[in-house]
Amino acid sequence: MSQTTQTTCAYCGVGCGITIQDGAILAGNPEHPANKGALCIKGSSLLETMDYPRRLLYPRLEGRHLGWDGALDEIAARFNQIIAESGPEAIGFYVSGQLLTEDYYVANKLMKGFIGAANIDTNSRLCMSSAVMAHTRAFGEDVVPGCYEDLEQCDLLILVGANTAWTHPVIFRRIQQARAKRPQMKLVVVDPRKTMSAEQADLHLGLLPGTDVWLFNGLCRYLFEVGKVDEAYVRAHTQGLAELTTLLDDPAYELAAIAQTCGLNQTDLLAFYRWFAERPRTVTLFCQGVNQSNQGTDKGNSIINAHLLTGRVGKPGASPFSMTGQPNAMGGREVGGLATQLAAHMGFNETDCERVQRFWGSPRIATRSGHKAVQLFDAVRKGEVRALWVIATNPAISLPDSARVREALANCEFLIVSEMTDNTDTAKFAHLLLPAAGWGEREGTVTNSERCISRQRAFTAPPGEARPDWWALAEVGKRMGFAEAFDYPNTHAIWSEFAALTAFENDGVRQLNLGGLAALSAEEYDGLAPQQWPVLAGRSADARRLFGDGRFSTPDGKARLIATVPQAPVLEQEEGWLLNTGRLRDQWHTMTRTGHLPRLMEAEPYPRVTVNHHTLLQSGLEPGQLVHLSSPRGEVLARLERDDALADNEAFMPMHWSDSFTAAGGVNRLVAPVTDPVSGQPQFKQTRVLATPF
Ligand code: SF4
Repeated sequence: MSQTTQTTCAYCGVGCGITIQDGAILAGNPEHPANKGALCIKGSSLLETMDYPRRLLYPRLEGRHLGWDGALDEIAARFNQIIAESGPEAIGFYVSGQLLTEDYYVANKLMKGFIGAANIDTNSRLCMSSAVMAHTRAFGEDVVPGCYEDLEQCDLLILVGANTAWTHPVIFRRIQQARAKRPQMKLVVVDPRKTMSAEQADLHLGLLPGTDVWLFNGLCRYLFEVGKVDEAYVRAHTQGLAELTTLLDDPAYELAAIAQTCGLNQTDLLAFYRWFAERPRTVTLFCQGVNQSNQGTDKGNSIINAHLLTGRVGKPGASPFSMTGQPNAMGGREVGGLATQLAAHMGFNETDCERVQRFWGSPRIATRSGHKAVQLFDAVRKGEVRALWVIATNPAISLPDSARVREALANCEFLIVSEMTDNTDTAKFAHLLLPAAGWGEREGTVTNSERCISRQRAFTAPPGEARPDWWALAEVGKRMGFAEAFDYPNTHAIWSEFAALTAFENDGVRQLNLGGLAALSAEEYDGLAPQQWPVLAGRSADARRLFGDGRFSTPDGKARLIATVPQAPVLEQEEGWLLNTGRLRDQWHTMTRTGHLPRLMEAEPYPRVTVNHHTLLQSGLEPGQLVHLSSPRGEVLARLERDDALADNEAFMPMHWSDSFTAAGGVNRLVAPVTDPVSGQPQFKQTRVLATPF
C-alpha cells in the first residue's frame, strides 16, 4: 500500500512543506502555507542527499566501537565528575538551528535546569541573534510581528542585507508573483553587492558596507521633515522619542550628508525615502547583511524605528520582518537555545528563574546568561569549559577565526560530537562520536520565519544504531540522576511539556503561548497541521500578525524607539580588499549535506574569490589565477574571478567551503572574532584581506 508522509524541508527558514511518497518520491506540499507546493533546488534534492558518505552508524570512543549504554554512561560519569570538581559552568553544549524543537527543548532543560549553568549556545547566534535582541529591545519580546502574506500585500518591499533570490528562493518566488500581479509594488534592495535580488529591484542602493544605521537614521529624520511621522501612534504606543529626535537633530543626518556617508547617489536616496514616506504598506525584510555585524542589533533597531514612527508594525502589508537562516532557528529561540535566554521567552530575572525551576522541578537552575558562541569556544580553549557537547553543527568551519576554534577543539578535555557522518571538520576532533538520526528519520517540529510550526516526520528508519538527539540527551539526564525529569517515551511527551511551559503563569505577558497545543493526543500531535503561534488554550484567533493594536510585550505595553548611534565596522588592518562572505544558491552551511551531490556542486565547483573589473586591473592579478588571501587571522587559497556586482576594492567569498572539501581552507580562517556587544553575533561581513599570487 502506498505511503504518503507530510514533512518540512531541512534547510532554510522559509520552512517549506514537503510530501514524500513511499520514501522515494519527493514533491512540494501544495497545502503548506509557506510554499504552496513550490520548492527550490536544495529542497527538491533532499532525498538524493540522504545517501551520505561515511555515515556514522554506532557510538565511537577514541575510535573504538562502543554500545550506546557505554557511551551514555561515560558522558554522565564525566559530566558529574567535572561538575563536582569545577562546577556546572565547566560543561558546555553547542547546538544548532538544525535541531528539532523537541531536541532543543531537552538540551536546554538538561543544561539550564539540571546541570545548572547556561552554557548552551547555538549556531543561531551566528545568524539571527542580533534580530532577537533588536526585537527584544523594541517590542519587549523576540517576536516577528508579520507574516509571509505581508511580503505580497505591501506596496513597498525593502530587502536589507538579504539576497532572498538565492538564500530564500521560494519566498522570492512569492514576491515575484505578487509583483507580476501588482506592478505598482516597488522593490528596493539595500546591499553593497548588486546581487541576483538587486538585479530585479526597482531600486538598488549599493551602500558602503556597514553604513545601514546611517541610512535608516536618515530615513527617520526625513519622515519628521516631511510630516510623515504618525504622531498619535508614537505618543500612544512608544517610548524613547526624545532621545531619538535629539540624535537626529545632527546635520549629519541631512539627506546630502547621508548620501555622502553611505556612498549613494542623492537622487536614488531621495527616491527611497519618498517611497517609504508615501507608502503606508511597507515591509522591510532584513537578514544576515544586517545581523552579521559589529552593530547588528542597532541596525535592526534603526529599521524598526522607521516602522514604529509610522505605525507600521503588525498590520497587513506593513511590518519589519526578520528572515531566519535555518529551518528551526525560531524554534531554538522559543525553547531557550541561546545562552542569553532561559526558556519559552523567559529570561534570567528572579521571577522567571523561580517559575521555570518550579515547572521543571529541577534541583538547580541557571540564574545568569552563559557564554555566547565565540566566548564559549574561548572558554574551552582556556580550559574553563572542560567538557563540550557539539550537536549537529560544524564550528571548526562556521565560527570566525577558525584556527582559534580548532585550537579550542583540540585542547578540549572531553569533546562529544553528535553527527550523521564522521568526516566533518569538527567530528575529527571528537573523543566521543554519537550517531544521530537525520532528516526523514526523526520526529518533531520546526518553526519558520513567520512563526509557523510544522511537523518534520520520519519516513525511514535511522541506519545502524543512529538515534535522535533528544533521546541521547534525555538518557544522559537520566544517568546523571534525573530519571523522572527526562523520562520521555517520545517527542509527543516533550512537545506537550514545552507547550505547557509557554502557557504556565502566562496571562498574556508573553506572546509565545502554545497553551492550545499542550494537551494534544498522540494522534493529534502526529497529524498536527502547520499553524502560527500564539495558539492559546480554548481560543482560536488569527495569529498571522502581532502588535497590530499597538500593545507590545514591555511592562507598560509600549514599544521602545532606540537612539542608534552609527559605528564603523571593526577592521584589524587598513590595507586590502574589504571581504564580504555569504551563501551560494545551491549549498547549505559547511556542505556536509549538499557537498556530495554533483547537481548541487555544478554551479560553483571550487572556492572562488570575486572582485570587480576595476579592482582586478589595479591588483595586477589575472582572472582565473589562484591567490592566497590573508588577514591577521590566517590564510586561504581561492581562484580569483571577476564579478562586476561588487563595488571597487570589495571582494566576496562564499562561506561554505571546508577543509573536508578542499585543502584551500574555509573563509572563516580570515574573519576576526569581532562581535556585536549586545547580541554577541560575529561580524562576518567585513574583513580586510590581502591577495597575493599562489
Ligand atoms: Fe527548503 Fe528553503 Fe528551498 Fe524551501 S526555500 S525548499 S525551505 S531550502
